[in-house]
Amino acid sequence: MKFLQPASDLFIPDGLALPAALARTTHLAVSAHQDDLEIMAAAPILECFQSKEKWFTGVVVTDGRGSPREGLYKDFSDDEMCAIRRKEQKKAAIVGEFAALALLEHPSSNIKDGANRKPVEDIAALLENCMPQFLYTHNLADKHDTHVGVALKTIAAVRSLPAADRPQKVYGCEVWRDLDWMIDDDKVGFDVSAQENLQAALLGVYDSQITGGKRYDLASMGRRRAHATYFASHGVDTSTGIIFGMDLTPLVADPQLDIAEYIHGYIHRFYQDVAERFKRLGLK
Ligand SMILES: [Zn+2]
Repeated sequence: MKFLQPASDLFIPDGLALPAALARTTHLAVSAHQDDLEIMAAAPILECFQSKEKWFTGVVVTDGRGSPREGLYKDFSDDEMCAIRRKEQKKAAIVGEFAALALLEHPSSNIKDGANRKPVEDIAALLENCMPQFLYTHNLADKHDTHVGVALKTIAAVRSLPAADRPQKVYGCEVWRDLDWMIDDDKVGFDVSAQENLQAALLGVYDSQITGGKRYDLASMGRRRAHATYFASHGVDTSTGIIFGMDLTPLVADPQLDIAEYIHGYIHRFYQDVAERFKRLGLK
């Protein structure tokens, strides 16, 4: 299959031919950058790992150009940095036994432009070929414009499909801003207690980012552990790792639903939770 950017690439780690390589997908994740998938979508990667029936496909929408560089990589040009980041993402696809990895190579300007439909078309074509049951993308309260932009393009792509072809469930995931602030009833918890070794390996291949001075590997594992412990104040920890998700399914079940109002609902319920506690404690 062909995508709109000339540098785009479709990598099938086990070499299975198309269309079967994509058609086996059950879980699909659409991220902005190389390394986001391993941070936000560890749960579906683990769920599909070594499974005969479940397959994970990853999609990276941008080209990773302009990413920070230090140490070993400090003299690398933008082109060299793009090549390194593509290579790292392919390493992760091999470690995680992805069904397929699509590198769409859009400049982030395509993502930040609300009127640009090119990424929407690429994502819609992948959805049509993969027909996943479960879809993961960035959450709508992330603090990185490109992440929220990718979530909006992904929602638009799902909405463009006939209702019967849309995934059963769509989740917004954590990267730049976690979802601990959501009220507990709104949280979708993904248990990632198992295979910390594999989670560490998936995060660890991104040497160009980690050597750059950002310990995304330690921070992501720490966030999972913190969520597991702080989720409930009573009782002992029953899991040692949790990733939180925001349910975006209503936005694709009803394409007329206003996206801004939908996320405002989550923020409003958080506001009410804080306000009602003050009221209970007698603060006027
Ligand atoms: Zn990112």
